[in-house]
Amino acid sequence: MNLWDYVRLRHDRPFREFLKHLVDYKHLKGAALDITKMILAGDSHKLSIKQAQVFRDFVYYKYYNKRCRKCKKSIYWDEMSEALYNGYLCGKCYWGYEE
Ligand SMILES: [Zn+2]
Repeated sequence: MNLWDYVRLRHDRPFREFLKHLVDYKHLKGAALDITKMILAGDSHKLSIKQAQVFRDFVYYKYYNKRCRKCKKSIYWDEMSEALYNGYLCGKCYWGYEE
């Protein structure tokens, strides 16, 4: 993905919900928080390249682009908020059911 694709993901509803969760539950601070608030407010066109990089590296990569710690599969968007608190396990591994 190019740098701005990460910012454009805000149009994706589960991703937006996830960003809101990060803000509401105070996972983010400093520049990462300010930039994420700008993106949620629809001001992403005002971001500099540097700010988009901060978003990619300190919000997207740090909180989302995670694979399940146990099975190494991608964690679904709708399991991401939960994964923040269970040590990055996917739903299957967390709840212990087989595929
Ligand atoms: Zn798993």
